[in-house]
Amino acid sequence: MRTSKKRITSLFVIILTVSFLTGCANTEPELTAPKFEIPAEPKSFEDMLENPNSVVYWAWKKSADQIIKNTTSKAEFTIEVGPKTIADNTNPAGGINLASRLYLDFEKQIPTKFVYFERKDVDWAQAQVNKFYGSAIQDWQKREASKMCPSEIQCRGASAMTSFDKKSALVILSSSDWGKQTKNNTEGPIEAHEYTHIIQDSQQGKYLGNLPRWQFEGEATFAQNAAIYFDNYEKYLEARESVIGTLVYTVKPDVEWLTEFISPKGGYTYGGAAWDKYDGARIYDVGMAITEVLTALAGPSSTMQLSQLVGEGLSYEKAFTKIYGVEWDKGVSMIAQILVKVFNP
Ligand SMILES: [Zn+2]
Repeated sequence: MRTSKKRITSLFVIILTVSFLTGCANTEPELTAPKFEIPAEPKSFEDMLENPNSVVYWAWKKSADQIIKNTTSKAEFTIEVGPKTIADNTNPAGGINLASRLYLDFEKQIPTKFVYFERKDVDWAQAQVNKFYGSAIQDWQKREASKMCPSEIQCRGASAMTSFDKKSALVILSSSDWGKQTKNNTEGPIEAHEYTHIIQDSQQGKYLGNLPRWQFEGEATFAQNAAIYFDNYEKYLEARESVIGTLVYTVKPDVEWLTEFISPKGGYTYGGAAWDKYDGARIYDVGMAITEVLTALAGPSSTMQLSQLVGEGLSYEKAFTKIYGVEWDKGVSMIAQILVKVFNP
C-alpha cells in the first residue's frame, strides 16, 4: 500500500509532538504481531492429536513462562579453562543459569565444576576427571577426555558426571576452532544441556539411569534450546530444526517405528542397550520430539518429575501414569500418533 507524502509529514509532526510532550521518555518497543496464529493450548493427548501444530509452540511457551517466572538461578558452579585453551563460549554462566531457572523446582545446588579444554589440554582435562572419581574410577572413564577429543578436527562434545553421593559434579567440554563457529557451543545450548543432566542425576539418586535412554538425552536436548532461546520463538524453531535435521526425511518414522522406539517390546534395562540398534542421533532427536509433546501438555517440570519419581523408587511407567494421568501403553500410542503428525505437517 502506498502512503501519500502529506500523510507521512503529518504523522511525523504528531510523533514529534508526542515525543516533546513526554520529554522523549517513551522508549517502549513497538510490539509486532506474531507472524502466525497462536494455536489453542492443548489440555490432553487427544487435543494434540487433533491439533498437532500446538505441540512445538506450547512446549516452547510453557518453558519460556517458567524461565520468566523463575527470575534467579540457584546453580552453584565454578569454571576452569585449560592452561592452553580458549573456551568456545565467552559467557558460560548464561546457559547454566537458564537451565537452572527452567528446572528451578528441582534444583539441588550440587556444586558443579565446568572444565573447558582444547586438544592440547586433553591430559589436563583427563587429570580433572581422574581426580573427580579418585579410586572409584572405571576403565572407560580413564579415556573420557581423549574419547571426545581424539584430534584437533574431531574435538567435539561434552560430558556431565555426578559423584556417587551426589555431592559434587563435573562437566568437561571440548573446545576447538569448529566449536568457536558453532552456535551450540558459543551461545549456551551445550552448557544448558549438560547442566540439565546434572539436575536429572540429582533427582534419580541411586536409581540413576533407570529411565529410557531417550528420556534423559531428549529432555537435555529440548532444554538446551528451550532455555537459551526462551525469548525468541523463531530462534527456538531454527535450533530445533538443526536437531531434527534429516530424521524426518531419512528415517520417515511411522507409528509402528515410533511405538517400538519409545517402548521397546523386550523392555529396557539400566544403560539402555535396547536402543543400541538405532543410529546414535535418535535418542537425541526423537527424544527431543517426545519431550516436546510431554512439555506442551504439562510443562517442563513434568518431564523432570519423571526423574524425581524414578529416584523415589517408582518405575518409569508408573511415574508416567502418575504425572500424565494415562496408562503407559496408551500414552506411547498417543505420542507415536501425535509425532507422525508433527513430523508430517
Ligand atoms: Zn547429553
